[in-house]
Amino acid sequence: MQDLKATIREIPDWPKKGILFYDLTTLLKNASAFREAVDALIAPFREREIDLVAGIEARGFIFAPIVAYALRAGFVPVRKPGKLPASTHRATYQLEYGTDSLEIHQDAIRPGQRVVIVDDLIATGGTARAVADIVRQMGANVVALAFLVELEFLKGRDKLPDYEIVSILKY
Ligand code: AMP
Repeated sequence: MQDLKATIREIPDWPKKGILFYDLTTLLKNASAFREAVDALIAPFREREIDLVAGIEARGFIFAPIVAYALRAGFVPVRKPGKLPASTHRATYQLEYGTDSLEIHQDAIRPGQRVVIVDDLIATGGTARAVADIVRQMGANVVALAFLVELEFLKGRDKLPDYEIVSILKY
């Protein structure tokens, strides 16, 4: 197993001062690192009868459809407001300043379906919490939330005590 962390570029003070940004594009362009990272995200769910993988716009869209394909599951996009054409449910969550929202089609998930939620990275966990709650409110069984990167020092997991969290690279 190669050092996947060594393929991630860390950019200080981006997009604003004080943030250390984990730039995954340098991992994604590295064929063996990309394959290993995706395989690691898929592995925990192979025997768990997943019906749907929900990906969070935008960087969750890089990984979620591949995971869905490998698991023979469907893919559900969770999108920024105003992008989905049919009736939606909306999840609103707190940012450092103000709020943000994400939407999911009302008919995207049926009650009882087994869903994994995928994003590239969990930081404070606010985004993940909002998406997990709306998926659960739709009657789905949220099997787990899966991330390539977890910033453990931001304690995002603490916002999700009632959910299983899978992460591959921890900082
Ligand atoms: P949060 O809601 O705080 O867990 O933020 C998660 C979302 O913000 C993910 O979709 C990430 O893509 C993005 N994000 C937050 N912090 C960082 C960071 N330091 N580096 C890269 N992406 C980040």
